[in-house]
Amino acid sequence: MTIANNIKAIKATLPENVTLVAVSKTKPVSDLLEAYETGQRIFGENKIQEMADKWEEMPKDIQWHMIGHVQTNKVKYMAPFVQLIHGVDSLKLLKEINKQAAKNNRVIDCLLQIHIAEEETKFGLDQEELTVILTSADLQEMHNIKIVGVMGMATFTDNQNQIKKEFQQLKSIFDQAKTQQTNNCHLEILSMGMSGDYPIAIDCGSTMIRVGSSIFGGRN
Ligand SMILES: *Cc1c(COP(=O)(O)O)cnc(C)c1O
Repeated sequence: MTIANNIKAIKATLPENVTLVAVSKTKPVSDLLEAYETGQRIFGENKIQEMADKWEEMPKDIQWHMIGHVQTNKVKYMAPFVQLIHGVDSLKLLKEINKQAAKNNRVIDCLLQIHIAEEETKFGLDQEELTVILTSADLQEMHNIKIVGVMGMATFTDNQNQIKKEFQQLKSIFDQAKTQQTNNCHLEILSMGMSGDYPIAIDCGSTMIRVGSSIFGGRN
């Protein structure tokens, strides 16, 4: 299978309301261009420097999504162009994104990352921490960010029931958080599902899937 065929095959199965993020981390620009030729315009990267390099090289009508954990001191390198930051998990990080977005006269869309997996290592907020952020007075002062949804990763396991349970949990957190909408907070995007579990995620209400290896092949 070629990259183009992989993308077409995945897109053919997606409901209309589900957006495909092509996760191109570690892959060369030539691979991304092959995806681009099929009409794919949304790419996800997990390292800011790598994303910035690819942004410079690739056509300018691409939307770049940062899907990895973000270090505060590196926000400035993506602030001029990033379309959506998936992995936001603190007010401190939101403040920095707001500051750098303001410097660039932009409003940057963010997703809050929720911890749903069993593994301790994965980043993210629990429901209580999410509520603290959504209701904080600080957030109301941040005019250069917009919280547009939540993101999560299920446990890396073959147990489909467990994955389903975790995605259902995230969907219910998302639905509840939607009732806390404020000025700069309009939750519309539920980012969940990767190569191994995106069909389950879609069944559970995902509106955005992040697919890497099923498009570009395995990573070293
Ligand atoms: C790498 C990565 C993906 C894509 O993983 P695949 O299993 O290759 O589809 C999705 N989301 C995040 C946060 C990632 O880091």
